[in-house]
Amino acid sequence: MAMKAEIISVGDELTSGQRLDTNSQIISRRLGDLGIGVGHHTTVGDDLADNIAAFRIAASRSDIVIISGGLGPTADDLTREAMAAAFGHSLEFRPEAMEHIENLFKSRSRTMPERNRVQAMFPQTSRIIPNPHGTAPGVDLEVLVKDPQNLDHPSRLFALPGVPAEMIQMLSQTVEPRLIEELGLGQQRCFFHSIKLFGIGESDVEQVIPDLISRERIPRVGITVSKATITLRIAALAASEEAFQSFIQPTVTQIREAFGEVIFAEGELELQDVIHELLDRKQCTLSVVEVGSGCWVGQMLSQGVEPSNLEGLKHLAWHPELPPLSTTRSDANPGESNSCPWIDLALQSQQRHQTDYAMAVGVYPPNSSLARESALPSTELQVAIIGPGKKATLKTKLVSGHPELFYQRLAKTALDLLRKELLGE
Ligand code: AMP
Ligand code: MG
Repeated sequence: MAMKAEIISVGDELTSGQRLDTNSQIISRRLGDLGIGVGHHTTVGDDLADNIAAFRIAASRSDIVIISGGLGPTADDLTREAMAAAFGHSLEFRPEAMEHIENLFKSRSRTMPERNRVQAMFPQTSRIIPNPHGTAPGVDLEVLVKDPQNLDHPSRLFALPGVPAEMIQMLSQTVEPRLIEELGLGQQRCFFHSIKLFGIGESDVEQVIPDLISRERIPRVGITVSKATITLRIAALAASEEAFQSFIQPTVTQIREAFGEVIFAEGELELQDVIHELLDRKQCTLSVVEVGSGCWVGQMLSQGVEPSNLEGLKHLAWHPELPPLSTTRSDANPGESNSCPWIDLALQSQQRHQTDYAMAVGVYPPNSSLARESALPSTELQVAIIGPGKKATLKTKLVSGHPELFYQRLAKTALDLLRKELLGE
């Protein structure tokens, strides 16, 4: 059975929402690098009884427990006390920890407040985790408890300070080496491969590949949705990146065959990155005109790109005036100029900026339900794309969605149409 870990973050500032628990994310990733799966993240306030309960539950269900926070010298720092009480140990004074704390104060030319003495108190049988740059040493405690089936269950708890910089240093200098040397972990690590989809719903994905999403399957395939983009994340333990890649190949092939051009990228690319790649590869330039789409296409295309590196992107414009909408017809004949204001806009932009491609993005009708609070926004997106040789394509799509994500969905829909156009040639 693979080892399972639990991460506990301690602090009222976390449970009250004043501060975001970032330690759990960092620790989870680091454990993943050692091939250790994390089954639980627990967050608990600065309350002794709650801490004791959380530590006991964690030890009973997890092989490795990493706690952060509550190791300071003040009255609300209860991790040492709770660790001892949870497993029937008492706290004992450790002169070597005291010496480190005193030296740290001396090196900073400060006198040590008496209350810092509590940081030299450790649960019996525990080991010290040195903290080179802070006063709070960590605690490494092995316990034997009962699991939920009432069988003996060994668990190893590591308590670290909450300050992220100290926590990270102690994790890499002491906790990880102990996990590797003493528990034999780190032979394998978790690898991930992402496949990104646009233009399909989450449940449709599941219907296409139900067997792949099954929880028992290895490699595991997870689905997450973020801002209308779906990510299929393949995860497995492997000794190397090469071993992982060859192990997941059949799964990757099955996904590629199932979704075809709905897949826009593999890895951590976004739609706009793919557009830049395609333009680079073709050595082509692009200009974009937007009407009524909140300038999101331009924003996304310039996101994360150094202004000097906007190779293919020659011009982004926002057109304040709507072209005469009466002539906007979704059945307009592609290539037939004058028949459609969107195609005209794209043509003008292509000519004015001397680009290989031009895209006009328009929203029609102008005062759609976007303006109304009650309704979910829904609107008809018009995208005209002019390629080299004045080849024109006009596409219409009905776009709807949550108001906060609406413009992003609109822009992504336009970018995805452009991607398919660039791929199609
Ligand atoms: P403590 O070790 O509980 O005294 O925490 C010291 C400081 O570290 C807190 O005031 C927080 O600002 C920060 N901190 C504690 N826990 C976390 C956490 N889980 N994620 C991010 N920061 C934290
Ligand atoms: Mg705290």
